[in-house]
Amino acid sequence: LWQYICDEFKNKLSTISYNTWLKAVKPIAFSSQTLVIEVPTALHKDYWKANLSKQVVSLIADSIGQKITVIAKLPDEPDPLLNNSNSSKNNVHPRTKVSDSRPTFMRETKLNERYTFDTFVIGKGNQMAHAAALVVAEEPGALYNPLFFFGGVGLGKTHLMHAIGHQMLANKPQAKVKYVTSEAFANDFINSIQTKRQEEFRKEYRSVDLLLVDDIQFFADKEGTQEEFFHTFNALYDDKKQIVLSSDRLPNEIPKLQKRLVSRFKWGLSVDITPPDLETRIAILRNKADADDLNIPDDTLSYIAGQIDSNIRELEGALVRVQAYSSMIHLPISTSIAADALKNLKLNGKSNEITISVIQDKVAKYYHISVGDLKGKKRVKNIVIPRQVAMYLARELTDASLPKIGHEFGGKDHTTVIHAHEKISGALNSNSELQREINDLKSKLKK
Ligand code: ADP
Ligand code: MG
Repeated sequence: LWQYICDEFKNKLSTISYNTWLKAVKPIAFSSQTLVIEVPTALHKDYWKANLSKQVVSLIADSIGQKITVIAKLPDEPDPLLNNSNSSKNNVHPRTKVSDSRPTFMRETKLNERYTFDTFVIGKGNQMAHAAALVVAEEPGALYNPLFFFGGVGLGKTHLMHAIGHQMLANKPQAKVKYVTSEAFANDFINSIQTKRQEEFRKEYRSVDLLLVDDIQFFADKEGTQEEFFHTFNALYDDKKQIVLSSDRLPNEIPKLQKRLVSRFKWGLSVDITPPDLETRIAILRNKADADDLNIPDDTLSYIAGQIDSNIRELEGALVRVQAYSSMIHLPISTSIAADALKNLKLNGKSNEITISVIQDKVAKYYHISVGDLKGKKRVKNIVIPRQVAMYLARELTDASLPKIGHEFGGKDHTTVIHAHEKISGALNSNSELQREINDLKSKLKK
C-alpha cells in the first residue's frame, strides 16, 4: 500500500517535494482504518497534517473505496494504535495534543482582499501616509525603514499595511510577506516557547521580506516579547528587509515600551493619520456605495458623511445601517431614510445626558484642576488648555448655543467660546497627544 502511495505522489509532486515529504517518511502500522506513519520532524508532521494526509485519504478512498485516517507521528511519540489497546491513561501525552496543532506562526499570512491601494481614498489626513506606503511597497527596505503609522482607531492604518503587502506581492509574487498584530506576535512567541519551537519561530519571522506588525501599543507590559521583537527587528533591518509598524500613538508615548525599541522605531519614518475631512468622508462613502452596487443620491451621502466625523469604520457602519434600514422598510435610500436610520446612532453620539456641567466635571478631573478654575479667569497654561478643551467639547457634544456655553463658563463672551473651539480644532491636526486626550474624554463622556 505504501509503495502504491509513493508511486502516485512521485507523479503528483515535484522531486524536491517528494524527497522532502515522502522519502523521509516510514509507514509504521496499518489497521483497517488507520495508517500510521513516522515523520522525522515536527515540521513534517505539520505539513502532513495540513496537506498530505488529506490527499492520501482521498487517494485511498478513490482506489480501494475505503475511508481511512492518516496519523503522522514523530519518532519519540508512541504509536497511537498501540496506545489505544493499552488504554492506559498514563500513556496519553498532553504534549502530543499541543504539538499536534499547527502553530499559529506557521500559518500563512492572510491579507484582506478589500484592503488595497485601489480601494483606499486619499485625503488630507492620510495622503502622507498613503505616499509613504506606496514608496515602501515599491522599494522595500530602501528608504523608510521602519515605516511607522500612528493615529486614532478606524483611520486606515491596517488598510494601508495590507495594501503594502498586496502591492509587494503583485510586484514580486515570490516575496514573503507577513502581517501580524502585536498580540499575534506575542502569542506566537509564547506558543513557540511552550512547544519548544523557538528555532522555527525565529526562522519564520526572520526570513520574511516584509514584516507588518499592527497595533504595537499592545507590546506595552510584555517584556519578553519586546526582547524577542528587538532581535527580530535587528535581524530584518540588517538584512535590509522592510518593516512596517502601526500604533495609536507615537513610539515614545507608548507606556513601557523599551527605550531601545523606541529609538529604533525612529530610525525610519513616522507618519500620522488624522481624521478625514468632509470631502474625504463623502468620497469614501461614494466608493463604498459603488463597490456594493448601492444607488444613493449625493446629498444623502453628504448627509451621512456629515453625521459621522470620528472614524471611518463607523462611517462604513452607518452606511450599512442605512442600507439595512431601507431594505427593511422597502423604501429606496434617501436623506430622510438615512436620518431615520441614524437617529439612534446620533443619540448615542450626542447623548442628551451630556451636559455642560458633566463636561466640566470630567475635564476638571482629567486634568487634575478644579471646576472653579475652568470657570475662572486664570491665564496659566495648565488651566487655559483644559478650559478650551471643555469649551470645545461643550460645543461638539451638546446642543447648547455659544452664549449659553459662555454663560456656563463663568459668564464669558461667546467669542471666547468660538476662539477656544478654533484653537483646539486647529491644534488637533498636529498634536497627537491632544488628539488622544480629546478621544479619551469623549469616550469617558459617552459611557
Ligand atoms: P485602523 O487600523 O486605523 O484602526 P482600518 O484600517 O481598520 O483602521 O480602517 C477601518 C475601516 O475603514 C476599514 O474598513 C478600511 O477599509 C476603511 N478605511 C480606512 N481608511 C480608508 C480610506 N482612506 N479609504 C477607504 N477606506 C478606508
Ligand atoms: Mg487597525
